[in-house]
Amino acid sequence: MTHAEDLLALARDVLLPVYAPRQLVLARGQGARLWDSSGRDYVDFAAGIAVCSLGHCDPELTAALVEQAGRLWHTSNVFVSEPPLRLAQELVAASRFAERAFLCNSGAEANEAAIKLVRKWAANAGRPPQRRVIVTCRGSFHGRTLATVTATAQPKYQQGFEPLPEGFRYVDFNDIAQLEAALSGGDVAAVMLEPVQGEGGVLPAAPGYLQAARALCDRCDALLVLDEIQCGMGRTGTLFAHWQDGVVPDIVTLAKALGGGFPVGALLAGPKVAGAMVVGAHGTTFGGNPLAAAVARVALRRLASEEIVANVARQSQALRDGLQALNREFGLFAEVRGRGLMLGAVLKPEHAGQAGAIGDLAAECGLLLLQAGPDVLRLVPALNIRDDEVADGLARLRQALAAFVGG
Ligand SMILES: *Cc1c(COP(=O)(O)O)cnc(C)c1O
Repeated sequence: MTHAEDLLALARDVLLPVYAPRQLVLARGQGARLWDSSGRDYVDFAAGIAVCSLGHCDPELTAALVEQAGRLWHTSNVFVSEPPLRLAQELVAASRFAERAFLCNSGAEANEAAIKLVRKWAANAGRPPQRRVIVTCRGSFHGRTLATVTATAQPKYQQGFEPLPEGFRYVDFNDIAQLEAALSGGDVAAVMLEPVQGEGGVLPAAPGYLQAARALCDRCDALLVLDEIQCGMGRTGTLFAHWQDGVVPDIVTLAKALGGGFPVGALLAGPKVAGAMVVGAHGTTFGGNPLAAAVARVALRRLASEEIVANVARQSQALRDGLQALNREFGLFAEVRGRGLMLGAVLKPEHAGQAGAIGDLAAECGLLLLQAGPDVLRLVPALNIRDDEVADGLARLRQALAAFVGG
């Protein structure tokens, strides 16, 4: 057995078998390129699931991490240090709506905090538990804890984990009439949605949908919670995805790209809810630790820059043009959708279920891709990816698609 085969066998033996990783072992990364343990290189259109938005081992992020590592790693929230305070201050300022932040370690934790904040806000207003319903959308993904997996309105993530917590109601994404009906009983405390559904197939909110949701929430005294864990931090072409929809949310959750690869999450709370929590009501040991915060501060400044915004627009167009050209050649896609550098190539019905097989072929051709469900190829590269890296990735995708139609 080679060293890589050894490690892949070890992964099958020692980890809970909840993942089905591609059969390669990554050893090193630089920018939008990765190398496996045998020295083979890959163009990275996956970015660790939309996490490494400044590429791998960005020198400035690395410097911030190393510098903070030599100073102070962890204090717990029983004591105060400067980096998390500055991060919270900078996130609040960048958000244009929030008054306060809660820092945590992951997306699920940020959404769990959002769910608890919604309930606390409703409880403070004297609403009994049965009038604290949270409406979420089919096809959504909000995380894997029991509450967030219940918010995730997809049975495949929930089955076997019952009993699930109560107080969630599901509607079809982008269906305003269903949303209106779901709120009509007066028992809804919040509507929670992704401005662009990620895991659910790279599906953007239709024009006007978020505005309609905002208006319905206002009419029914419910909060609007936006999960920007995947679509936020500049990925869709603006620092926050919802800026393109012209709405002001009450709560936004962030994680994935927030730390550029270092685990960190955040909840941003607007004026209605910023005062709803009290001492002891919620907490975390690791959340907002100085190491994570020091890295996230640099990531936030960089991801909010004009340079990144311009590059997202440029490379988004290049990828869309490239995918359309591949589709003229191979005719595999029904549609290319998404926003900015969060793109989905939807396979035609006759190729349904084949996204994983194409992903395997792409890896063999030196390209790392994601899927969003069985029918959609998902491209979420680093936001600072260069022209030559995009061109190289598209050339490798062409090889993979040629192998797919030929084989
Ligand atoms: C990834 C993701 C989450 C969960 O984040 P974790 O860090 O894996 O817990 C929640 N919501 C959305 C939209 C995501 O893409």
